[in-house]
Order: sequence, then structure tokens, then C-alpha cells
Amino acid sequence: MFFKKKPKVDTIATIAKIRYLINTSEKIVIGAGAGLSTSAGLDFGGERFEQYFSDFKEKYNINDMYYGSFCNFESKEEFWGFWSRKIYYNRFSEIPNNLYTTLLNLVKNKDYFVITTNADGCFLRSGFDKYRLFYVQGDYGLLQCSMPCSQKTYKNENMIKKMIEEQNGMAIPSKLIPYCPECYASMTPNLRADDTFVESWGWDRAKDRYENFIRTTFGRKTLFLELGVGQNTPSIIKYPFWSLTSQNQHAKYVCITKEDIQTPKEIACKVITVDDDIKKIIDLI
Ligand SMILES: [Zn+2]
Repeated sequence: MFFKKKPKVDTIATIAKIRYLINTSEKIVIGAGAGLSTSAGLDFGGERFEQYFSDFKEKYNINDMYYGSFCNFESKEEFWGFWSRKIYYNRFSEIPNNLYTTLLNLVKNKDYFVITTNADGCFLRSGFDKYRLFYVQGDYGLLQCSMPCSQKTYKNENMIKKMIEEQNGMAIPSKLIPYCPECYASMTPNLRADDTFVESWGWDRAKDRYENFIRTTFGRKTLFLELGVGQNTPSIIKYPFWSLTSQNQHAKYVCITKEDIQTPKEIACKVITVDDDIKKIIDLI
């Protein structure tokens, strides 16, 4: 007999094991990708896209907020019409469910650190310690110069709210298009798309803190908890987690995601994988 998918794991026993690991580990490193925010209700496609972007869908034939980011918009006014909505509904409006706060309650009394490719600020907004967070790929809540002429970033909350309020159809008024205060070039969201991404002073400090934290895990009882990390950029979280787990005899690696899960044979005895909805599993833990 052949199974296309491996048979379902015993969920209750698996949940108990993960709970035990969280309670008994000295260090917890959380690695989070897009799947975590999707499970928190911040879906980039489907009903949410329909609700907030049906006009863009019709005109530009795009089906979700991810692919919309690569669209060639007709004008700067429409570019910011799209981006102000994407930023507002993912970064500044309420997070649809309590997944992030439930996760915080699990680790808040532990020595933890979070590395994430998500730019929606959900960890910070849910009360995670900002000195224990590294936003590798940037933050929707910041703008940068598109050139860039400096390594500065600028908070955009008020600007974005104004763009939402004053949007006429898909376009924002021309007077609201943001320009760099230093060189007057166009501004752009502080997100890593290519080598123009600005690694600001704050970003650098967060990176240092993350690397220092990782150094403190060597030889210690450490849980690497990977949540919703896909296959787009495995070199940021997934591969380093495998390698750190393999190098530390006291480390364990837990991976919860709805995507295909593959792990290397060398760490098989230190791995727990759960192929299910993250919110459902975190609620059970
Ligand atoms: Zn500039």
C-alpha cells in the first residue's frame, strides 16, 4: 500500500510534547513566516482581497495583495492607493483573531527571541518585547528613500491614514505622494525587495540582538519553534534553524505549518512537525 500523505500524527500526544518543550526549554527562538499571519486572519487573498481591493482586481487583474506589490500601476497616485490600503489593513487595523496574544502568553515568562519575515508588526502590536524581535524583511509601518540617499526610515502611520481617508477611487490626491525629505526622490515602503532595502540603525541593532541571543543558545536547552515559514526564503529562518538544531545536542526543532514539511535526516530525532492550522494548534497548547 502507498500513502500519498503520511498518516495523521497523534495530535494530542504531539501537543503535549510541544507544551513540555516550551515549559522546559531554557531558550526559545520563534521563527515566523507569512503562514502565521494568515492563521491570525491577515489573509492576503480570498475574501479580504475581494473586500478591500475589488477595484484593483478588476483593473489590473491581480488576485492577492502579494502579487499586487509587483504590479506596474498607471500612476504614483494609484501606486499609493494600493499601498496605503495594503499597509493600513495589515499593519494598522485590528488583528482579526487572538493568535499572537495566545502565543505571547505561552512564552512571555521565558527567555525568548523572535525572528520574522513578516512586515505587519503583529508581534509588536500584540505586546511582544521590542528588544526581542528582529524584522528581517522590513516593516510596513516605515518608509524609506527609493534611491536610497541615506539609511534612514520614517514612520508612516499618519500619512497612510490620510491617504486612506482622502482616496478618490483607486488614487490618492497628488499632494499626499511622499517624497524623501533629504533628496526629494520618491519614497517607498521599507521592505526588502532588492538591494535598495534600507537597513536602518534600529534594524541593525535588532540584528545584533538576535545574533547575540543565538550565541547564548549554544549548548543550552533550546527550542526552535518555526511557525508558518514557507519555501520562498528558507535561508532566513528554516535553514539556520536546521543547522542550529543540528549543532546543539540540547536543541529541539518544532515546525507548525500548513505547507509541505521536509526536514533533514540528521536532525530527525530532534524534530516535531505538525501539518495543520497554526491557531488551532497554539490554542490546544
Ligand atoms: Zn533620498
